[in-house]
Amino acid sequence: MSEQGGAADREGREGSPHLSHAQIAQLWAKFRAGDVIYCPRDSIGMALAVDGAAKAYRLVCTQCGLASPWFGTTPAGLVFRSPPATVNPNAGNSPDE
Ligand SMILES: [Zn+2]
Repeated sequence: MSEQGGAADREGREGSPHLSHAQIAQLWAKFRAGDVIYCPRDSIGMALAVDGAAKAYRLVCTQCGLASPWFGTTPAGLVFRSPPATVNPNAGNSPDE
């Protein structure tokens, strides 16, 4: 079997399926400035999830479920943590698609 156009998922579709790191950094900067932040997909207000134990943050759209990966904040900027180290609410379910 050969799949056509073997490119992995890329951003470039209308309404990117995931937040890019740049988008997250922008949203975070706005959030810290005291602004309300909106989901880039549907313009609904986004909520901030906080993992106090891991000192990690995550932006989640309450409408469509679009969510950033967990990230920590450092003086140098945001540090993304791909695998959630401490929480795993849906073990067994595929997180995306
Ligand atoms: Zn949304």
